[in-house]
Amino acid sequence: DMYSLQKKIQYTLIKKDTAVICALITAMHVLLAPVCFYFNYDLLSRYHIYAATLYAIMIMLSKAIPPLFLFTMCDLETLSYPFIITFTVGNDIGSYILPITLLAYLFMILASSEKTKYSTIIPASITIISVFLFYSLDYNFAESTKTISKTFYLLHYTLYSVTSFFTIIFICYVIQKKLFRFKNKTRIKNAYLNYSATHDSLTKILNRRKVTELINDYSTNPEYVNTNFATAIFDIDGFKKINDSYGHNCGDIILRTLSEVITRTLPEHTVFARWGGEEFLILFAGNTENAKSILEDIRARIQEYSFRYSNKAIKITITIGLSDTDKSYNFSKMLIQADKNLIKGKQNGKNQVVTSDMQEVNNEA
Ligand code: GH3
Ligand code: MG
Ligand code: MG
Repeated sequence: DMYSLQKKIQYTLIKKDTAVICALITAMHVLLAPVCFYFNYDLLSRYHIYAATLYAIMIMLSKAIPPLFLFTMCDLETLSYPFIITFTVGNDIGSYILPITLLAYLFMILASSEKTKYSTIIPASITIISVFLFYSLDYNFAESTKTISKTFYLLHYTLYSVTSFFTIIFICYVIQKKLFRFKNKTRIKNAYLNYSATHDSLTKILNRRKVTELINDYSTNPEYVNTNFATAIFDIDGFKKINDSYGHNCGDIILRTLSEVITRTLPEHTVFARWGGEEFLILFAGNTENAKSILEDIRARIQEYSFRYSNKAIKITITIGLSDTDKSYNFSKMLIQADKNLIKGKQNGKNQVVTSDMQEVNNEA
């Protein structure tokens, strides 16, 4: 599925990024080998050559081996070096900055995969415990420290610092640009999925499912305890004929245009949704006093509007049934009333707004 595919892509990204970090450290070792050789630290020089070779092999194998394993190798190497240089030269020359920097890599791992959530604890612990042990043991090589050449110290220190600097910059870049951007894409995809689940694909207005959800919310949320509600259902008059004379595609375009026109007309806090094929629902929440005039306005606008299809102007009308204003959240009753009034309007010559009190007047008459 989408999610696992995304994780897979992120994992591949992490593999490449881990290789880049390895490459940075390789370059540092390659530069340090001749420096150490020049200052007569043969053992250290050999160490850097071996380390560079090890990293080169790891980069070549990086596609096949898990990034966390690759990282653990880097971690062990960078952690062992301060011990080695202390015993050889008498000072760690700030080389502990590199394993500490690599702790940031674990955030990259954490952000990339759910599976590695707990496995990062081990390398993080190894690093922190090693640093703690190294400094708490407090080696005293004061005598040998004096013999270190200032140039060697500076070169060594600079190379370790610069490598750490670029490593951390690179890790920040990866976390910020690659992973967060990826998450944003997922967020956009989720927003789209949510949109398509709640909106009608043809008319882009709310679908029946979303309106049902809203009605449930209105009925149960105490926030609406003092809100008046009214529902209206309208249906396009003689729509079958439109489809028959101009084609189904024309019918679709009319449905879409009609939805646009009405969306523009409706006041705020009025819910407008596609209820069925060519039936729509308008739900008034609070502004029920104007419901009838708003609907009358919509009816007149649709009657006047010229729908366009292949250079033809097509006229349609709608019949609207409005329910009573209700405060008891009885939406099923309101919907039945609206539907009944709609049917009355259809029987009564169409192109009209029908309300329950109108019917009473008619009965009296
Ligand atoms: P009345 O005035 O009584 O409402 O007549 P009518 O022809 O509009 O009513 P009827 O229910 O017989 O026909 C509705 C038509 O609407 C039938 C159906 O093919 C069409 N329709 C429903 N949904 C769509 C749609 O998404 N696109 C198109 N083009 N037509 C649709
Ligand atoms: Mg119909
Ligand atoms: Mg119809």
